[in-house]
Amino acid sequence: MTQQDGKHTLIRARWLVGFQDGEHRLIEDGVVVVQGDRIVHVGKEWEGEPDETIDARDCLAIPGLISTHAHVAAQVTDRLVLDGGRRDFMRSGFLNCAPRKLLGGPSLGSYEDADASIAYAFASLLRHGVTTIVEAGNTGDVGDIMLQHMGACGARLYYSPAFVTGEYFVDSDGRLVVHRDEQLGFDGLERAIRFIEDHDGEFGDRYRGILNPDEFYLSTPELRRRTREAADRLGVGITMHFCEQLFEFHETVRLAGRTPVQVLADEGFLAPDVLLGHCIYIAGHPMVAYPWEGDLELIAGAGATVAHAPLALARRGVFLSTFDRYQRAGVNIGIGTDSYPYDVIAEMRMASLAGKLIGMDNEAAKARDVFNAATLGGAKALGRDDLGRLAPGAKADIVLVNFDNVAIGPVWDPIRSLVMCASGNDVRTVLVGGKIVVDQGRVLFADEHELLRKAQISCETVWKEFPGTHWIGRPLADVFPPALRPWQAAPTVLS
Ligand SMILES: [Zn+2]
Repeated sequence: MTQQDGKHTLIRARWLVGFQDGEHRLIEDGVVVVQGDRIVHVGKEWEGEPDETIDARDCLAIPGLISTHAHVAAQVTDRLVLDGGRRDFMRSGFLNCAPRKLLGGPSLGSYEDADASIAYAFASLLRHGVTTIVEAGNTGDVGDIMLQHMGACGARLYYSPAFVTGEYFVDSDGRLVVHRDEQLGFDGLERAIRFIEDHDGEFGDRYRGILNPDEFYLSTPELRRRTREAADRLGVGITMHFCEQLFEFHETVRLAGRTPVQVLADEGFLAPDVLLGHCIYIAGHPMVAYPWEGDLELIAGAGATVAHAPLALARRGVFLSTFDRYQRAGVNIGIGTDSYPYDVIAEMRMASLAGKLIGMDNEAAKARDVFNAATLGGAKALGRDDLGRLAPGAKADIVLVNFDNVAIGPVWDPIRSLVMCASGNDVRTVLVGGKIVVDQGRVLFADEHELLRKAQISCETVWKEFPGTHWIGRPLADVFPPALRPWQAAPTVLS
């Protein structure tokens, strides 16, 4: 169903999160009215006569969720790293799989079917209620595939091909080495600029550009200067992985005499349009052994945003310290889904629980705060006052969560229930710009079983190639042992 201009669609929900006086407010038995791609009314009732009505009287209606850091791919390598990984990588995830065997040698990811991988990822994000996606860094030549599937699936996307001034590889002794090549970054930046100039605003403005110098660690001052300049000229934001690695913090302090945050602040790089992916290892974090604080104040002072994706980091025993400390310092926080699963609701739960655990404070990282991060925080990071909220004039990006639901149970406060009991699987309906893109928990742009089948084949093809990309050819199951040993067929016993 496509929302026609002029027609009014009314959604009647058991609970509805409306936006009033600068904050989310809860409406019990509320309505939201959509005309074209925008919301025209939110409240208890509507005087007008709707052309159609969506009955969501057993649902919670919330704004479309924003993933400020999502890797749009099937995560063929990240799915391997759980409960282990090389100790010399200091709990990094992707370094266990992504680097090539020798400089210019084969990389595991190169065997992936990008089309199957990306189509699956968009479907999974939408199914979990994510309506706006910031692609966190794909340096591959997949721009056309990204646009093709985002166009078809109906989501909003911020993306351009990521660029770096270096490349990791594993040498013949198994050591992780970085090959630096600044020109590679300059060329990549030019490619990204052209991509944005060619496509910004396409698909009814659902696609927008963002520059992505993938990793702070693999960037140089000159690349960052050119990126900042290009972002200002194009009027787009910047995102990159930042302080996700422990060695990134220490190496910067040792070589620059300043923390990574201080370096960015001194360069004039930090600004309200900068989205820092992860931003874990900064001054004052207990694992960096660098107690001289001030980093958070610099980030907050510049108005930059931290994209907090707690689940992927929790898998490695790594944590933000802490959600409340960042918030108290005035740092804008968005929620990201990183690699897998693409479930912002699960990320909100993790952010809240980790915030309480790490802060040793049950009053920290409240349901309200993580919900704000996944909606208003993301919108602020993207400079959008028409996303992340249900208000007249905002884009009609709406998620209906099924609350007639044994998994969720009796409800006193639907936002606390959403954060503590719900999951992306409870999302029933998703609208982006007034158009229904998920109905009855299924994406409408493709056959989910077919998407899944192709993604599985793509991943299995890659996993088969694992020994050829490992520095001494070890089999996959040796490097990342499965949780359970395989069943051994019993010998036939003749009676
Ligand atoms: Zn990432």
